Amino acid sequence: MIVAIDGPAGSGKTTVAEQLAKRLSFSFLDTGATYRVLTYAVLEKGVNPEDEEGLTNLAKSLDLKIDNNKVYLKDADISKEIRKPRIDKNISKIVGFKRVREIMNGLQRKEAAGKNYVVEGRDITTVVFPDAEFKFYLDANQKIRIERRVQQLLKEGEVVNQQEVADDLVKRDKADKNREVGSLRLTEGTRYIDTTHLLIPEVIEKLFAIIKEK
Ligand code: C5P
Repeated sequence: MIVAIDGPAGSGKTTVAEQLAKRLSFSFLDTGATYRVLTYAVLEKGVNPEDEEGLTNLAKSLDLKIDNNKVYLKDADISKEIRKPRIDKNISKIVGFKRVREIMNGLQRKEAAGKNYVVEGRDITTVVFPDAEFKFYLDANQKIRIERRVQQLLKEGEVVNQQEVADDLVKRDKADKNREVGSLRLTEGTRYIDTTHLLIPEVIEKLFAIIKEK
């Protein structure tokens, strides 16, 4: 069974998906992490982020392993590196290419299809698993989402420039909602949940209750 969750940056979906998966005894896939690994590899190899051919080849040969919230590239643990602001700054260009997304969609389906998984991202309810048994769209107002991102970076020991974090988040949202392929959209059959005034355990409880009810 697949539980698919989409939503903008800072909507709480990664934390919610991870803890909901634990509660259901499911595995958890953060598809944003797959795009973050690709972006990390692009920066390390110096591939031009405008070069679709180069990006596609890199995506095809990506030696990526995801184990719940740990991420490995060629067996090196890069879980921390992929959360750095330099990845946030560069990711939007890279994730917009159709062929790149098709390869990443394939990796994501290969990981989770036919198994019990909570999968979260931007196009999970629409493109990757449109037939998922449960589909949710988590949202929150922009101010709260920026604040959550700032708190997350501080927790990870980053030196945070609040204005820069806000600018990056707004820019990423805009790119995610407006790209031609795999854009972030709320579609029919997906439940919209506003988390602005909810704590993480309350959101998990809400989703868990909906799933249990069926
Ligand atoms: O979820 P997270 O913020 O870590 O995702 C990082 C970036 O990866 C997003 O800003 C988005 O551009 C991209 N992404 C995507 N499709 C997904 C998941 C993430 O394009 N399914």
